[in-house]
Amino acid sequence: MKFEKYATRFVQEIGSKQGAISPSITQSAAFAYGDSATGEGIFDGSVQKPLYSRMGNPTTAKLEGILARLDGGIGAVCTSSGMGAVALSCMSIVSAGDEIISIGGLFGGTFALFNETLRRFGIHTSFFDVDELEAIEAAITAKTKIIYLESVGNPNMRLPDIGLIADIANRNGVVLIVDNTVTPMSIRPLELGADICVYSTTKIISGNATVLGGAAVFRAIDMESADKFKTERYSDIHKFIDKMGKMALIPNAKKRALRDFGMSASAFASYLTMLGMETLPLRMERVVESVEKISAGLDQAGFEINHPCLPDHPHHQRYKNLFSKGCGSLLTIDMGTREKAFALLDNSKLLFITANLGDSRTLALHMASTIYSDFSDEQREFLGITPGLIRVSIGLENPEDIIEDLIRARG
Ligand SMILES: *Cc1c(COP(=O)(O)O)cnc(C)c1O
Repeated sequence: MKFEKYATRFVQEIGSKQGAISPSITQSAAFAYGDSATGEGIFDGSVQKPLYSRMGNPTTAKLEGILARLDGGIGAVCTSSGMGAVALSCMSIVSAGDEIISIGGLFGGTFALFNETLRRFGIHTSFFDVDELEAIEAAITAKTKIIYLESVGNPNMRLPDIGLIADIANRNGVVLIVDNTVTPMSIRPLELGADICVYSTTKIISGNATVLGGAAVFRAIDMESADKFKTERYSDIHKFIDKMGKMALIPNAKKRALRDFGMSASAFASYLTMLGMETLPLRMERVVESVEKISAGLDQAGFEINHPCLPDHPHHQRYKNLFSKGCGSLLTIDMGTREKAFALLDNSKLLFITANLGDSRTLALHMASTIYSDFSDEQREFLGITPGLIRVSIGLENPEDIIEDLIRARG
């Protein structure tokens, strides 16, 4: 099995060997300090006790520890949603006048954040395809603070060579953030050279559409990365490095984003996320095998399928070499026209029509009429959104049932 070590680790870490086995939910907004000196210590960071749930909660802290160990980070900060984690990781680093380089087919919310909202705050983002390495390196200026990348293009299904992009980021002293929502465990961005790995835990980490959540996992500021962070470019972060050393990116994120924007996770959300996470390795194993079977089955039946497991996909070799544990639950079907796409979705008996992904059930959505409906034609073309495009997120059903259902639905 591809995720054996995580199967042991997650259930062991989430359960407790004494008292209540299931994680306890600390349902309190505020915490009493007992005495003034302890209060002072909590605020200056010398006493490790909860301050106020916007800044951290014991149930959420348990989940943060598990996610930090998953990616080999020094720590993690959980948020109220995946967009909360994207916003936290970016807003704790950029200031007005700074630049972001965004690579790959981008999640709609992140694209809107970069292209509209951050622009209003004077932060400029330029967009590149995963293979435009020379143009990416040439676009880096003294104001570039972040290179942002998704581990799998959603929905264009293009795969980045994360190691090569990390080399560019590190060579030029720029922070690399990787959104690993679609490929937890399969891809380990911090090991490949990224500084921050972000997740929407709403998706396959929870896996059952019960709860929104997000997380940012941070690398240690160690000998290797200190050179990069000690530069003028990141002078805003120096005070945290001086005080907190290798932990610096955590208080930077907590103080600059959680404290001031308040995208904090709730204890109950963190509890539900941990319940989902117990079965993540088993579900992921099933899903990455089913995606390959369904892609091949539908391809054979004459559907226009986009998935890098198929030999004619431009990143098929990269899929075999760098994504040997799969690239998550997504594939796309191009039905040619909006009418044919609607007919397939509406005739299917098994698909759930929704914008979510990574669920136990197989989900599907017509892209141009929904998530990308208010994008310009040019933006849709850049993101690979054709008129008949359907994104499918494969669930835990028998893959043969899904293939049969779609062939029948096509008529
Ligand atoms: C869903 C998603 C997000 C946003 O997460 P929410 O929990 O919906 O806020 C960010 N990135 C990717 C790749 C996603 O799929």
